[in-house]
Amino acid sequence: MAAGAMSWRTAGNEGLAGNGWASRLERSRRRKSTLFRLRLHPSIRIQAFLFYAMIVGHKVMTLHDKFGRQITDLRISITDRCNFRCVYCRSADPENYRDHDEILSWPELDRLARIFLGLGIRKVRITGGEPLVREGVEDYIARLHSLGVEDLSMTTNGHLLAERCERLIQAGLRRINISLDSLDRAKFEKITRTKSFATVMGGIDAAQNSRLAPAKINAVLVRGINDDEVEAFAGFARERGVIMRFIEFMPLDADRHWNRGLVVPAVEIHRRIHARWPLQQIPHERSETARKYRFADGAPGEIGLIAPVTQPFCGHCSRIRLTADGKLRTCLFSKEDHDLRALLREGASDEDMVTYIRSVVMEKEEGHRINAPDFVPPSRTMVFIGG
Ligand code: SAM
Ligand code: SF4
Repeated sequence: MAAGAMSWRTAGNEGLAGNGWASRLERSRRRKSTLFRLRLHPSIRIQAFLFYAMIVGHKVMTLHDKFGRQITDLRISITDRCNFRCVYCRSADPENYRDHDEILSWPELDRLARIFLGLGIRKVRITGGEPLVREGVEDYIARLHSLGVEDLSMTTNGHLLAERCERLIQAGLRRINISLDSLDRAKFEKITRTKSFATVMGGIDAAQNSRLAPAKINAVLVRGINDDEVEAFAGFARERGVIMRFIEFMPLDADRHWNRGLVVPAVEIHRRIHARWPLQQIPHERSETARKYRFADGAPGEIGLIAPVTQPFCGHCSRIRLTADGKLRTCLFSKEDHDLRALLREGASDEDMVTYIRSVVMEKEEGHRINAPDFVPPSRTMVFIGG
C-alpha cells in the first residue's frame, strides 16, 4: 500500500467540533428526574437518592442506550503511540502523536475507571496504539484489578509481551489478544513494517505457557496480501491450541486504502477452513463480536470469525470506547466523540461526569453505516481510537 493523505489534525478536531460538552451536560441535567431537581437539604437528598436507587435498583447503576442495549464493555486506549506501522492501520509517514499532556494521565484514567465501574461496566480491555509502550501499564492493571473489574484483558501486538507477561499476570491480567497477520516472516515484516516476527512469536509462546492461555490471536485479512494464509492460520490454531480470530478489514486505515474488494468475507474464511477441517459452531453470547467454532475432529484450538463489514453485529453491541486523549466514543464509526478530558480538567464532579456519560451513551448509534451508500469513514483511524 502506498502512503495516503490522512490528516491527524482533522481527526483531532472531532472531539471538540460537534461536542459542546457544557451545553450537553446542561441539557442532560435538565432531563434528570424531578427528584434530582428538587432543592433539598443535602442529607435528605442523599437519603432520597438511596431510596430512589433501591427502588429502581440496577437501572441507576447501569448504562443503557435508547435502543435498550446495556453497555457493560469499555475499551480503554492508554496511548496513541505504537512501535508498529501495520498497513491496514497506520500510515508509513510519520504521524503527529498527541502531546503527552493531551493524553489522559494515570490519575485521570483511575478516576474514569472508578466512574465507569460504578455505572455497571464489567469488562475492560486495555488497548492503544500499543498499550505495552506506555510505562506504568502493569500498575494501572493492578489498580483496575483491585477495583474489581470482572473481565480484564488487553490487545497487544505482542512485541514486548515475552518480557512483560509475568508482570501483567501478577497485576491481574486474565486474557490477552495478540495481533499476528502472517505466519510468514517476510510477509509479517512487510505488513507491520517491522523486523519483529521473532519477538511476536516469542510473545505468543510466553502467553501460551502462562495462565493467559489460550491466547486469542487476531489476524486482519486483506485481499491480495495475506488471504492465502487462512488454512495456515487454522493449522496454527490446531498445533498451538490458540483461539485464531479472523477480523474483516474495516475502513479505519490511515492511508484510506480500504475498499470492499480488499475485505475477505467471514463466510469465505469459514468455507475454506470447514472444507479442510470441519467446524462446529460454539454458542456465543449475543453481544460477542466473534462467531466461534471448534474443530469437529477434537483437535485443540478454536476459530473466531469477526465480520463487522459483511455481517454487522451492532444490534447487541455492549461496547463503548475511551480514547487515549480522553474522548468517549459510542461506536468505532462515530462521527462525533465526547470530551471527557475537558470535563475532568475543568473540575467536573463525579455526578457531572456520570450525568454526561449517561446522556452520551443514551444516544449511542443504532449501528455503523459501512454498508450505507453515503458512508463516510470517521476522521479518527484505528490507532487513535483503540481497537
Ligand atoms: N496495537 C495493538 C494490536 O495491534 O493488537 C492494539 C491496538 S490495535 C488498533 C487493535 C486491533 O485493531 C488489532 O487486532 C488490529 O489488528 C485491529 N485493527 C487495526 N486496524 C484495523 C482495520 N482497519 N480493520 C480491522 N481491524 C483493525
Ligand atoms: Fe500498531 Fe496495533 Fe495499529 Fe498495528 S494494529 S499499527 S500494532 S496499533
